[in-house]
Amino acid sequence: SQHEQPSSISMVRVIIRVRPFLPQELSSENANPISCVSLLNPESESCGNEVTVHLKDPETSRNECYKLDAFFGQEDNNVSEIFQREVSPLISGIFQGYNATVFAYGATGSGKTYTMQGSDELPGLMSLSMSKILSACESTGSTVAVSYYEVYLDRCYDLLELKEQEFMVWEDKDGHVHLKGLAKVEVNSMSSFHEIFSCALQRRKVARTGLNDVSSRSHGVLVITVSTPSCDSVGSMITGKLNLIDLAGNEDNRRTCNDGIRLQESAKINLSLFALSNVIYALNNGMSRIPYRESKLTRILQDSLGGTSRALMVACLNPGEYQESVHTVSLAARSRHV
Ligand code: ADP
Ligand code: MG
Repeated sequence: SQHEQPSSISMVRVIIRVRPFLPQELSSENANPISCVSLLNPESESCGNEVTVHLKDPETSRNECYKLDAFFGQEDNNVSEIFQREVSPLISGIFQGYNATVFAYGATGSGKTYTMQGSDELPGLMSLSMSKILSACESTGSTVAVSYYEVYLDRCYDLLELKEQEFMVWEDKDGHVHLKGLAKVEVNSMSSFHEIFSCALQRRKVARTGLNDVSSRSHGVLVITVSTPSCDSVGSMITGKLNLIDLAGNEDNRRTCNDGIRLQESAKINLSLFALSNVIYALNNGMSRIPYRESKLTRILQDSLGGTSRALMVACLNPGEYQESVHTVSLAARSRHV
């Protein structure tokens, strides 16, 4: 149980991923200051599970250091490497009935969607996970189903319903959280997954066209549920699920001039990201009370964060944005701190 976790191990791994500069960022005359993120990691090789990330202010050359679990640099497509090293190990647990959660966290433009969703040519963690799960099913005889929803301004919308449908979240007397009426669709091939997923994405885009890019201001959650026939007892099933989450972009309101609905959105986003960070901090530091109830997202994820579940937070950085990166890495490091 949560109370028995040794406090020296981070239960939620927190890693950094820096995207490369985009062609237009390199060629533009007023390009952002050059990369401020590098890895200096003299001792970590030996202690194995910690890296120190240095962020250097391009203007003052001041250095900020943060300790995290792993670092993935600007090399082309580091997504497949993140998958191999960080996500793939979580997947075997799903077949044994354990839940897991992977978050992409960072400012808008830092590469969260690229990391989670990817594109047809370069699959993100969602497709890579689905593909690995489906091939593992061939030997385990498991069945796979997906749900896909978004949390926007603390409301939850089912993206697999024809008309993006709001659903309610409630907790029963045993403390189990239920997502009432959330659709769950069986998937048996990558092509059926892509079909379902791209249809849902399309819906997500057109749902609230009055507003600017809602998709980067809501949390997008893909849930892959795997049901595996139990070896021990004939006829019973073991269920595990993997949550893959493209979090809303975190914002520094001192820097962006938000007003009205944008400010309200921004406040909610920051509150829910802060609540998430508090939950991860509590888990990583072996605290007995985990503050799941402080936001909708953490309440929903109660059964997939902590306990026997495993989680990964991928903090995404834009290499040209120093202040933004400091904001992201400091929250990431703060969540992890043991
Ligand atoms: P976010 O979802 O955090 O707002 P995106 O995933 O949309 O950010 O990424 C911002 C831009 O950076 C997009 O144009 C995306 O294609 C590009 N990008 C991100 N990561 C990479 C990468 N590893 N290689 C090339 N382009 C990338
Ligand atoms: Mg995005």
